[in-house]
Amino acid sequence: MKHTTSPTAIEEPGDHGRRIGAYRGSDPGPLVICIATLHGNEPAGIEALARVLDVLSENRVRMRGDLVGLCGNLQARSAGTRFIDEDLNRVWQHDRVDAVLESLRAGGAVRDGDGAPMVGSAELAEQRELLAAFQSEHRRARGPIHVLDLHTTSSESAPFTTLGDTLQNRALALRLPVPVVLGLEEQIDGAMLHYFDRLGWANIGIEAGQHAAASSIEVHEEAVWILLEALGLIEAGSAPGGGDRRARLARRAEGLPRVLDVRYRHVVSEEDEFRMHPGFRNFELVEAGQELATDRRGPVRTAFAGRVFLPLYQRQGDDGFFIVRQRARLWLTVSRVLRTIGADRMAGWLPGVRPHSDRGDAVTLARWARNRYVIGYLHLLGFIARSDSGGRVMVRRQEGPGPRPEPPPRAS
Ligand SMILES: [Zn+2]
Repeated sequence: MKHTTSPTAIEEPGDHGRRIGAYRGSDPGPLVICIATLHGNEPAGIEALARVLDVLSENRVRMRGDLVGLCGNLQARSAGTRFIDEDLNRVWQHDRVDAVLESLRAGGAVRDGDGAPMVGSAELAEQRELLAAFQSEHRRARGPIHVLDLHTTSSESAPFTTLGDTLQNRALALRLPVPVVLGLEEQIDGAMLHYFDRLGWANIGIEAGQHAAASSIEVHEEAVWILLEALGLIEAGSAPGGGDRRARLARRAEGLPRVLDVRYRHVVSEEDEFRMHPGFRNFELVEAGQELATDRRGPVRTAFAGRVFLPLYQRQGDDGFFIVRQRARLWLTVSRVLRTIGADRMAGWLPGVRPHSDRGDAVTLARWARNRYVIGYLHLLGFIARSDSGGRVMVRRQEGPGPRPEPPPRAS
């Protein structure tokens, strides 16, 4: 059913900066926050959000809840680069976020643990503004909050999602008919989405395809529309041009596994002179021992068979490539059941695993237990490997508070 009149739906214009725009539904409901250009050289998300917001307001689509588009790294976007001083998707460690939040609360400079002002970077300023923006969106929210972080890749790629593997994030990702890639968060420290797990907001990253491809804009549009519908903000078929959006998106990832996880990360630094061999598509199958790149020491081969993932075809970035492999759906089911019955709380009873001395959410592993069986079992229970001052520990992911009660449907 198409609603064409909705007198209280408000289009809120963007401020030509942080806020790309917003559409406030006529009825209360979930808030969907979309973030585009967290990496400045990935503009597809901005264009996609502008199009979705235009269609919503031009057609006065009736909505239950609110959609907001935010720009991630404004300075890098203007410069057309991934980042200016540091990657804005690697700076969301607890301590740093707490320091920035404190500066917002108290005013003045961001100070480190010793009270000294932190050395400013372009991205520190961006992060401060973003955190302020999240706080103000939180204040306006009229229901549970969901965050979509819109990205593109330097290589050609089928669309996929990435997430911290909590049950609520997983449920959100599985609403889209594209592959879900698990385990990236364990390889990458300080990604922005971790912050939303702390707040209990469901969140996923959506990777739409190559940075400059027109199809990347369409993928982000399709994903946002599908999720607005799946989360109950709009009624099925109420947005013009809907039709077979889900089928279109599914076709873009045809033939790929539904769930994969990261088995290997090839880290590079500038001195490595790493050069990926040209022509690898994301998710392309590779064999163990296959040469994928060169660096100053010579050929770079993968030790693992699987699918090459996020091959580096741009100058900035410290991930040369990853290897991912299919994860059985059964694994997802088993892990959901184990976490639901609270088996994760008994992780400290496993042989070789001990509760962490001063972190209630973590365990430490005896040296002999640091093998893929024990670590694999802890992954199943929702633990993630992290380094801290005491060495390598496994930390339980924070599950969100669960969906808040929905407001009662309004008679219409
Ligand atoms: Zn990105």
